[in-house]
Amino acid sequence: MAGGSIAIAAEEKAKEPSPTTAQTAKPTIAPAAPSIATPVSKNPAAPVAAAKPSSNSDQDMAEALVKKISKSSGDIVLRSSDLPPPYPDPKAQAKPEVKVEKKAEAKPKEPPKPEPIIIIVKEEPAPPPPPEIPWTYVDGPGGPKNWATLRKENQLCEVGKMQSPINIITDNTVKGNLSPIVFEYQPFLLSLLDNGRSVEVSGRANNNIVLNEKKYRLVAIHFHKPSEEAFNGERAEMSAHLVHEHYDGSKVIVAVLMGSSSRLFDGVPEKKWWNNATQDNPLFQIVLSHVPLVRNQVASPRNVAINPLQLLPEDRTYYTYMGSLTEPPCTEGVTWIIMKTPLLVTPQQIHSFGQIHNNNVRPLQPQGDRIVKEIR
Ligand SMILES: [Zn+2]
Repeated sequence: MAGGSIAIAAEEKAKEPSPTTAQTAKPTIAPAAPSIATPVSKNPAAPVAAAKPSSNSDQDMAEALVKKISKSSGDIVLRSSDLPPPYPDPKAQAKPEVKVEKKAEAKPKEPPKPEPIIIIVKEEPAPPPPPEIPWTYVDGPGGPKNWATLRKENQLCEVGKMQSPINIITDNTVKGNLSPIVFEYQPFLLSLLDNGRSVEVSGRANNNIVLNEKKYRLVAIHFHKPSEEAFNGERAEMSAHLVHEHYDGSKVIVAVLMGSSSRLFDGVPEKKWWNNATQDNPLFQIVLSHVPLVRNQVASPRNVAINPLQLLPEDRTYYTYMGSLTEPPCTEGVTWIIMKTPLLVTPQQIHSFGQIHNNNVRPLQPQGDRIVKEIR
């Protein structure tokens, strides 16, 4: 029991200042030796008290003392080595001390455990990484002109030849009849967040589009004000981007222009859709109603579902061209599908979104030698 408690005490000591325990532990041996070697002749009581030797030991010591006296003259020092073997009774008491000592010495061997501390020390240099400037739509250090310099991965933002968005000149499009897009959409539970640049709705399984016999799942929906894409030099009041991705990583983004009045966007040919915007778009209204109060915090309101089909115009004809993501890292190889017919929303809805995000658009990019197809 006592040994156990000593061991615990030793452990506790070892846990704390391990080096200190190692140092204080050693001296405990040293005093033991001197206590035995102390001039017994002058103060016989000391060894007795320390070792509590038996009466036999007293006799042994007396005999040794006599021998010493007979052999030498001058100072008489009686060493434990002068005593016959039986005397080292003190060993009986010294042993426990040695045991404790061994334990005390054994414990310090545990300190290797603190090695993880070294790892922590290694982690300390991690914080220093240079502060990264977040990209933004506003001119400045993180603005569109500097996107490429913010990160190595953003090079295409500057040197890419197939960047988005672009200005579509409706008279210069290549008209054709191709296979239409199949929208395999169905209602799903709403989950959205305000990422500081737009309001983004998470996609859900079993919502796909099929384009040229290739299936792309709906990854996310977000909104821009005004629209990023322009027609004949003019942007719509807003646009929705429905981002789709195939398993191989290739992306198709469906852009739907949103507006409440033809006055604000004369570039769109199908003006008939722009008159008398008196009804809220139901999906957009649900999104606006559930925008989280705090940015970068996902909200998944209970039992609130949206039907992505409500973001699509009845007329599914479109323009298409090859472009890129319109935000860093500006990855190219994105197939853009821009619905020709805008989505009708109310001025109030446009205004409400503007209270959350405004001018969250990338500047127009050169079309270069790319062609824009008009599918009807
Ligand atoms: Zn977008």
